[in-house]
Amino acid sequence: MALPVWDHPEPLAVDSAPRPEYGTGSLADLLPTLAAGMGVSGTTAAIEELTPADRACVFLIDGLGWEQLRAHPQDAPYLHSLLGSSRGGTGRPLTAGYPATTATSLASVGTGLPPGAHGLPGYTVRNPATGELMNQLRWQPWTSPRPWQPYPTVFQLAHDAGVHTAQVTSPAFENTPLTKIALSGGTFHGRLSGEERMDLAAEQLAAGDRSLVYTYYSEVDGAGHRFGVDSDTWRGQLAHVDRLVQRLAEQLPPRSALYVTADHGMIDVPFDEQHRIDFDEDWELRAGVALLGGEGRARHVYALPGAENDVLVCWREVLGEQFWVASRDEAIEAGWFGPRVDARVRDRIGDVVAAACDDVLIIASEREPKESAMVGNHGSMTPAEQLVPLLEVRS
Ligand SMILES: [Zn+2]
Repeated sequence: MALPVWDHPEPLAVDSAPRPEYGTGSLADLLPTLAAGMGVSGTTAAIEELTPADRACVFLIDGLGWEQLRAHPQDAPYLHSLLGSSRGGTGRPLTAGYPATTATSLASVGTGLPPGAHGLPGYTVRNPATGELMNQLRWQPWTSPRPWQPYPTVFQLAHDAGVHTAQVTSPAFENTPLTKIALSGGTFHGRLSGEERMDLAAEQLAAGDRSLVYTYYSEVDGAGHRFGVDSDTWRGQLAHVDRLVQRLAEQLPPRSALYVTADHGMIDVPFDEQHRIDFDEDWELRAGVALLGGEGRARHVYALPGAENDVLVCWREVLGEQFWVASRDEAIEAGWFGPRVDARVRDRIGDVVAAACDDVLIIASEREPKESAMVGNHGSMTPAEQLVPLLEVRS
């Protein structure tokens, strides 16, 4: 009797993942381009089509991907009026960088460096000094921020060059390590409401002959995680932020440019076992694994000593049709984290890195109950989560 021949599709090739456009069109290229336009030394105008402005404001809308924005013209009429503009540099996407997650992206924005250099390459990563997982957003457990991310922020470089710089965001972020290493330089202004932030951002923009201002809104992301992209709550948040952008745009002082962007997009993942693979329930995926880091769509897997290759082979076999599964070296070589990875950052990256290609997640129902219940997710390299808007308004 002949044995059945299984049709076993090849796992996704590591280099088939759409690598972020580091150096030409990624989030990390935005602030250096704006600062270079103001004559700040040590910065490069990497995004060629942006016209310099003496005063620039970056408004970062957490979680508002390019594809989700484009799919909702009726909820965001003002933002949509900026999409099709023919003015140079407006209405195009940037790539967030890998992984497409808030801590990583905010560090890319503020330092002007890709993740492999700034060293926040995930939502949670292993701290090589302690062997523990560290949450990069909440900075838990605490570790000294400066050795972790030693580079100056673009705000600091601009401030040192005499540019008026300011961050206008939630008061809760005033003294956080993430703010310190990614978004400090100049003055921090905490304001609770979006309207207050818009008004103050415009004021700060006018406060210097050259000025660089950052402002932020978080709730589009929160609504997407809880209720999904396209939920009533998400669309309500989109409509609200659309009015906020217009409010700021209408107050721009002369010689200003406002740039609207985001840290990542989002993708809804169905609630069934095919789409949500539970690490805590899967003995195959758990074999040889010391620590599970990252998040559902962008996992760092830290193997027990000596088990690195076994874990790679197993993860590739189990997940390789739905995830790009790479060894640390392969992911670095493929440029997922940028053109270079600093020596201090290398071991923060998993022995195995798994990035979702389909609408799937590796949840961990026991160790991450909250995250495992989220409707909308992000982290990987698909256009839905990787592409973020770059919209421009000039006064
Ligand atoms: Zn998020």
